[in-house]
Amino acid sequence: MEAPLYKRVLVKVSGEALMGPAGFGLHQPTVDRIAADLAATHALGVELGVVVGGGNIFRGVQVSSQGVDRATGDYMGMLATVMNGLALAAAIMRAGTQARVLSALDMPAVCETYTRPRALAHLDRGRIVLFAAGTGNPFFTTDTAAALRAIETGCEALLKATNVDGVYTADPKKDPSATRYDRISHDEVIQKDLKIMDTAAFALARENALPVIVFSIHEPGSIRAAVCGGGRATTVAT
Ligand code: UDP
Repeated sequence: MEAPLYKRVLVKVSGEALMGPAGFGLHQPTVDRIAADLAATHALGVELGVVVGGGNIFRGVQVSSQGVDRATGDYMGMLATVMNGLALAAAIMRAGTQARVLSALDMPAVCETYTRPRALAHLDRGRIVLFAAGTGNPFFTTDTAAALRAIETGCEALLKATNVDGVYTADPKKDPSATRYDRISHDEVIQKDLKIMDTAAFALARENALPVIVFSIHEPGSIRAAVCGGGRATTVAT
């Protein structure tokens, strides 16, 4: 049996990952596949936090040119992440694993409010914790929320599930000679100006020596593989 490398990790799932081929919103078979991968990873004995994005529904920056101010647009984006969190939690629970949604914005009729002690208590009890509403602040991203929650809750790594199977020397879609790193340091990522996460998110990871594992969400079972050190991925670590 594969052995996990970590006891507790945080997985960042972008909103776009949940829309599958649909182009907008939630594609239920894709949500179910990702939920099953999370449940299978949890079944290895790994404690899991998940930060969900909202880009499949709404991004604040979309409306900032259309008469809605940026901060309001960002709150709308945060609401989108709550919808995704509820959908993913429901799918995880259908897969037979306990899950809880904790929102950085108060909405007690919908889900629990994020507090660090509450998140730690759920993780200790073996529940998958879905962190919704990002950081709760406009002008931030869910990548920053992922780095922040990972550090706050003592995760040993941030698993960034994305569209590509790792970090490349250049954009592989534009440059066919680009090669993938198996491992790279935080400092090298900055020196080489490689784009993995936004600057605030990456600065948090670097300052706290948080390893970031970048892999493709499109590969079935890739979260479980990444936790076990397998599959195609890049590990960013100091
Ligand atoms: N957002 C925000 N503060 C946060 C996290 C998210 O204002 O701490 C808003 C922002 O408008 C963002 C949207 O929520 O565009 C969706 O999040 P993000 O773009 O990070 O989602 P992803 O790209 O991962 O799907």
